[in-house]
Amino acid sequence: MDRVDLRSDTVTHPTEQMYRQMVAAPLGDDVFGDDPTVNQLERESAARLGKQAALFVPSGTMANTIAIGTLTNPGDEMILMEDSHIYLYEAGGSARLWGVHPHPLPSVDGCLDAASVHGAIRPDDDHQPRTSLICLENTHNMCGGRVISKEQIAGVAAVAAQHDFKMHLDGARLFHAEVSLGIAAAELAAPFDTVSFCLSKGLSCPIGSLLCGSTDDIAEARRLRKLLGGGMRQVGVIAAAGLVALTDGIERLADDHRRCQQLAEGLADLPGARLDPNPPQSNILFVRFDDLDVAGHQQLEADLDARGVRVLAVGDRGLRAVFHRQIDDTGLQQALEGFRAIRSI
Ligand SMILES: *Cc1c(COP(=O)(O)O)cnc(C)c1O
Repeated sequence: MDRVDLRSDTVTHPTEQMYRQMVAAPLGDDVFGDDPTVNQLERESAARLGKQAALFVPSGTMANTIAIGTLTNPGDEMILMEDSHIYLYEAGGSARLWGVHPHPLPSVDGCLDAASVHGAIRPDDDHQPRTSLICLENTHNMCGGRVISKEQIAGVAAVAAQHDFKMHLDGARLFHAEVSLGIAAAELAAPFDTVSFCLSKGLSCPIGSLLCGSTDDIAEARRLRKLLGGGMRQVGVIAAAGLVALTDGIERLADDHRRCQQLAEGLADLPGARLDPNPPQSNILFVRFDDLDVAGHQQLEADLDARGVRVLAVGDRGLRAVFHRQIDDTGLQQALEGFRAIRSI
């Protein structure tokens, strides 16, 4: 039996169509700006997000780090969520590289609370750093793939506009929000100066993220990409997969959302199961069992693994399951059976 890998949506392999396009892609040297496939991917990405320009980078981490470097000055402070990817999982890069001071606040339903942001703004005072940037995340990974609404974004954007702050969106899974809400990514991206999104997650490309923004901001971002060693050469080989993903990878995310809900429904019947969020809003689900501590969840991860079902134990959050292109209905059933075999009374 095949193993069902729900650890992350980063585990996918390229589709056959991607491989075909990778072989056929016209190439150039992208550091000279003349790889036609990369240029096309950057144009199409910018258009999809309603921005003037886009930059192809190796990872979501690099996209976010470059965005923060582009939008701030050394010594500035950025307000972000304490459970955001940028704060937790990007090696503190913006502090180390750009001297940007993070000001983390709790997330409320996956977003910053506008009143709390207002309260966190630094007064004009020699003792304090200058607030200059606000970062959001959509969908919100550690909030279980929560989809952030236009209204939530608008509340924070109003505070930013009042104080002339910049706004960056970590949109690693922005197209999941587009599909879930039925609202174009460009509309969700509109209040932000810069927006990153990943090709290497639900869109199942092997590598790559895009940073989108104004022509000026992306020109500066291109300098910072070079500084970080992220300038790549005949990278149309990879960008070709991205073009396929933008064409045929977005609508199908709804299937991942449906399967994630079906897993949640099945798990809800197991004794002591707590789902977060309930119901799931996109392709990510956390499940915790009342009778298990952190070590108990690690053991459950191992027991599921022995049955061919891979999930990720995440500290006191319990287990995380993430749906993606390579989990079909059979995989979903296999995952449910694995949980039932171990956790049914
Ligand atoms: C995965 C992820 C990133 C970073 O992407 P990498 O390509 O792994 O560096 C950024 N933000 C969120 C929300 C993510 O889930």
